[in-house]
Amino acid sequence: MSSSELAFISTVASLAAGQAPGLIKGIGDDCAVLEKNGDQVLLVTTDTLVSGVHFNLQWHPPHLLGRKAAAVNLSDIAAMGGVPRYALLSAALSSELSEQGLQEFMNGFVEILREHDVVLVGGDTVAAPCPTFSITLLGDMAKAQVCYRAAAREGDEVWVSGMLGEAAAGLSLCEQMDKVPEQYASLIQAHLNPHPRVALGRFLAASGDVHAMMDLSDGLATDLAHICTASGLAALVDGQRLPLSATLMQAGELLGYEARQWALCGGEDYELLYTVAPGEGQDLARRVMEELGIEVSCIGRMTPGEGVFLEEDGLKRQISYQGYEHHL
Ligand SMILES: [Mg+2]
Repeated sequence: MSSSELAFISTVASLAAGQAPGLIKGIGDDCAVLEKNGDQVLLVTTDTLVSGVHFNLQWHPPHLLGRKAAAVNLSDIAAMGGVPRYALLSAALSSELSEQGLQEFMNGFVEILREHDVVLVGGDTVAAPCPTFSITLLGDMAKAQVCYRAAAREGDEVWVSGMLGEAAAGLSLCEQMDKVPEQYASLIQAHLNPHPRVALGRFLAASGDVHAMMDLSDGLATDLAHICTASGLAALVDGQRLPLSATLMQAGELLGYEARQWALCGGEDYELLYTVAPGEGQDLARRVMEELGIEVSCIGRMTPGEGVFLEEDGLKRQISYQGYEHHL
């Protein structure tokens, strides 16, 4: 995220500040949270993908791009623990995407929505210099179960789902190689076709054990910093406990890149990052594995202070907001 983008977000945040009837949480979390009825809330999120910034049609098949455009929004509903329900799609179209390509995009878009029982309820199209897709997603859930970024407590364990850095490594491979060897297919898939953790988000929120939660879209260093800032705490990450796959390490060697940087500062993991009271995480992790077959890892803890710190080999350095900038 560039400094001008951050400045714009703070302008929007100041304009969006204030209270309105039924508004529970405005800007500053994965979704806005609005009163629905009784003990239910409405979740609202929006995200935009721009050709040449967020995707490259040279290597991104339109079908998978359609899936991803929905997935990144589904991930924000998952981040609160919610159930996605309705989608709106605004598409800015150009000749860069053929009629057939657009059809494939829509097939992928609707395919993943169906997998999550989400209905496309409207949208808009315009002509533009390059293809751009903006999606708004609405979801709902029990008011008492919503997991906010601001809810981390001092001493909490910090956990993440899945493996880190896979999508960022996949993007690097696509950018730097004409033909990526088959052994890296899992990394390419993580970049092209991420799987939002909707079932996991619901399970974690319903467990009642999770304090703060968000999804990883801009890299661990930046996203964990959001939880720290929102909760008024610092975080200490144990460098030895980052979940890194063997394939990721091999890709690092192939490209001459320190693979761990993909995990810390790469973007688009779309895994869930959450905190639980000390001593509670292991039992929850066992239940997650039993119920959903998803591996989760404890990577650190919440401490007094501010900022995200990485500890390894007895050294501690601050890594807050060293996030991912879209740079295709
Ligand atoms: Mg998010």
